Amino acid sequence: MKAVIIGAGLGGLLSGAKLSKAGYEVEIFERLPFTGGRFTNLEHKGFQLSTGALHMIPHGARGPLASLLCDVGAGVTIIPSEPMSVIRNMAGEDIDFHDFRKEISLTKRVKLGTVLAYSLKFKPKDDISFRDWVMKYFEDEFLLRLADSFCGWSLSLRAADVPAREVLEIIDNMYRYKGPGIPLGGCGAVTDALCDVIRSNGGNIHTSSSVERILVDNGRVSGIFVDGKEVSADIVISNIGHMETTKLYKCSDEDYLAKLGKAKPSRGIKICIASDEALLGHSGALFTPYAQRINGINEVTNADPSLAPAGKHLIMSHQTTLSDNLEQEIALGLDDLKTLFPGKEYEVLMVQSYSGGWPVNRASSGSDTGNRTPVGNLYVVGDGAKGKGGIEVEGVALGVMNAMREIL
Ligand SMILES: Cc1cc2nc3c(=O)[nH]c(=O)nc-3n(C[C@H](O)[C@H](O)[C@H](O)COP(=O)(O)OP(=O)(O)OC[C@H]3O[C@@H](n4cnc5c(N)ncnc54)[C@H](O)[C@@H]3O)c2cc1C
Repeated sequence: MKAVIIGAGLGGLLSGAKLSKAGYEVEIFERLPFTGGRFTNLEHKGFQLSTGALHMIPHGARGPLASLLCDVGAGVTIIPSEPMSVIRNMAGEDIDFHDFRKEISLTKRVKLGTVLAYSLKFKPKDDISFRDWVMKYFEDEFLLRLADSFCGWSLSLRAADVPAREVLEIIDNMYRYKGPGIPLGGCGAVTDALCDVIRSNGGNIHTSSSVERILVDNGRVSGIFVDGKEVSADIVISNIGHMETTKLYKCSDEDYLAKLGKAKPSRGIKICIASDEALLGHSGALFTPYAQRINGINEVTNADPSLAPAGKHLIMSHQTTLSDNLEQEIALGLDDLKTLFPGKEYEVLMVQSYSGGWPVNRASSGSDTGNRTPVGNLYVVGDGAKGKGGIEVEGVALGVMNAMREIL
């Protein structure tokens, strides 16, 4: 059986590793000159910046991505973040995430325990947003800000733009798999290890090869057109999201197209800074609910010093893009950094913005449409087809697991 994969991002590579291990002949085509998509390193001034991710694996060594990497034999070390995360409160103090209840009244604290326990068991069936859900039960300024900060950092969305049921699935997964970790060597170490697995299983990865068409015969996929030739395949896996995939063949399934229209990509801005001293001093995420734009920050060099030149720290902030005025959004983010680190010396290494065809998330969380397409044996994986309750790369891994359950 032959599988052709469009795109060598994390989703394509996980699928390629799994299928090549199962004995499939695997061929991957990537339009860029490098593999890894939005999950690989980008060297700049001796710092290991990245093409997308903040070098963080949301559920660390115990989550779905870690278990899939282990399953396919990709040797990656994931260093647990310690503490899991911290919140900068209104007074400017950093409190452990688990202590967030101390910021609200005793009555609300008691109510929170009951409401959360009930809602985790019986998730809302309607489309109530996470913001409205928080408002409905608590009407609390701090909780609303924390909800925005958490959704902004982990999903690049405002709490008003995520269904409460999806965030509750995420909270469930946080209890199940626990907190984040940082892959030794950064996210490039993960995708490079997957490339090694695929090649050692006899698979081929072609870079600088943009797939132009998906070939369909009698409702089933028969191959692709790339580099001026047809390549036949028994199955085709697309790592480029449902919408982009439909541009490569003639899709006339109106219901499917209507569903895709609802899955909007999420936008975001990442600011990478360098400092001689640790600005956070730990390897967890810092949530910043009182900042104007920045939702959270990490300092990955506390887990893996090799991500920066000797004696330096790499700090990365993330913010949801709230308006179309990109310059202003970036200025507000830079302003936040000054307020968050008063009097500290740091150098802005790079500001990266993500939208359109290179977004933070191809399908905003809660709007994924699964791995199937209207064409037989054509599947979609990656962050356009995440599994339920999966934050970013954990969602990518859960989606790949679902696709593989159907295929294998
Ligand atoms: C700023 C930012 C911060 C993030 N932080 C984190 C984080 O800390 N932790 C985390 O878990 N996640 C994070 N994410 C999300 C994570 O990076 C993505 O979920 C993940 O990398 C998506 O992988 P993918 O395989 O779905 O897509 P991609 O990485 O986009 O891979 C798709 C590949 O397909 C290729 N391609 C497109 N069209 C074609 C074609 N026609 N022919 C051939 N190839 C094609 C593209 O070039 C690309 O390489 C972050 C994302 C951003 C942008």
